[in-house]
Amino acid sequence: MSNYVLEVINQVKEKNSGETQFIQAVDEVLSSIAPYVKEHEEEFKSLALLERIVEPERIISFRIPWMDDSGKVIVNRGFRVQFNGSIGPYKGGLRFHPTVNQSIMKFLGFEQIFKNALTGFPIGGGKGGSDFDPKGKSDNEIMRFCQSFMTELQKHIGQDIDVPAGDIGVGAREIGYLFGQYRRIKNDYEAGVLTGKGLEYGGSLARKEATGYGLIYFMEEMLKANTLSLKNKTVTISGSGNVAIYACEKAQNYGAKVIAMSDSNGCILDFKGIRLDIVKQIKEVKRGRIKEYLNYVPDAKYLENNSKIPSIYTIKTDIVLPCATENDINLEAAKILVENGLIALGEGANMPTTKDATEYLLSKGILFAPGKAANAGGVAVSALEMSQNSMRYSWTFEEVDRKLEKIMQNIFSSVKNSAEEYNLGTNYVAGANIAGFKKVANAMIAQGII
Ligand code: NDP
Repeated sequence: MSNYVLEVINQVKEKNSGETQFIQAVDEVLSSIAPYVKEHEEEFKSLALLERIVEPERIISFRIPWMDDSGKVIVNRGFRVQFNGSIGPYKGGLRFHPTVNQSIMKFLGFEQIFKNALTGFPIGGGKGGSDFDPKGKSDNEIMRFCQSFMTELQKHIGQDIDVPAGDIGVGAREIGYLFGQYRRIKNDYEAGVLTGKGLEYGGSLARKEATGYGLIYFMEEMLKANTLSLKNKTVTISGSGNVAIYACEKAQNYGAKVIAMSDSNGCILDFKGIRLDIVKQIKEVKRGRIKEYLNYVPDAKYLENNSKIPSIYTIKTDIVLPCATENDINLEAAKILVENGLIALGEGANMPTTKDATEYLLSKGILFAPGKAANAGGVAVSALEMSQNSMRYSWTFEEVDRKLEKIMQNIFSSVKNSAEEYNLGTNYVAGANIAGFKKVANAMIAQGII
């Protein structure tokens, strides 16, 4: 590996000690782009390019006081990481989850830089969120929290500055409350300031489906390039949120048999094929737990999580789609999946596979669709939402969906081409990192030392 890459990884470890997820993301990206960096080592080093790319342009951290239904005042912490704006306004979701901290925000923002570059749209990398836990909160509590969050965030965003969207715990309801408060404070209908909006006020058709559908479009391209397809394959999907649900829908459209889905407590197993209408009812309407599936399909099984490996990864499957959270698949889980005959893995979530598990899967010849390429459909359709907002015009569902499919095919070819150019075979992880990095690096070089 290039000495320069090693030096910068070590500096990041020293300067950001304790930020494990951020260090992991930097380590994975920088190690895999080493063959490209080696070709340009002197130039990059003289410009401190890697040192600059691993340092966020700005981190905003703020207090979010709000009142719960009983009148108690609660204080949460909010973040916005504006990581890299060299190719366009910062763009990336907001996550509301009790685990949110600066390290998670920085890892997600860092990944987002290269993901956004891969889409081909002029959007920079950012991420934000709060350690607020939306689970079990009333609609009024969610609204009051979102209003307090936006009261501070609005100072730092704008349709040409920074455009947030949803992520874990932030869906259409939350985006609605956030947008309402933004509009009220600014007294300006700036539709392009947030994406993932409702269809009645500037949202795009197919945005809700985009990440999950995009994952499957990417997966099908990857399989096709290796003379395979989704048809008749068994699929397990971790998570049962936005990404998981629409990945399941599209996988079923392609003739795959989805046999398991999960949430943070455990997974449901239905060998007849998951009934997605029931999952949608439980998760999208009732905001319930996946276990409730058994109330509708008594033949199905429920496997509680009770070891270090989420139960879903112990199930025999051809294809696994981790669509829940980071570091869900560790080396142990990866070994079980391989023993059980895994063919391919597609990351719907961000960094759901640990570095050693990724390396192990690649060494075993598993086709591996890395998150920053495979789950880029969400941000790509967010960019299409911004285009529609600027034009004051809406495309049909089919028009957006066709554009999404084309975008995912293009992302796969650039990932594949980069992997081939550096003799990396089917290492699409490195292919994606190199393809994304090249574009951002060139923009940063052109803009001087800033
Ligand atoms: P949702 O909030 O809609 O769903 C999250 C799902 O993951 C839920 O089933 C949740 O279960 C599960 N989950 C969350 N945290 C954990 C945890 N710590 N352990 C186990 N399970 C967990 O989020 P999304 O579907 O939007 O996001 C899922 C992943 O996809 C994230 O990694 C996100 O960053 C990524 N992503 C999302 C995009 C989007 O457009 N929404 C775009 C690109 C990537 P439970 O209800 O039990 O918490």
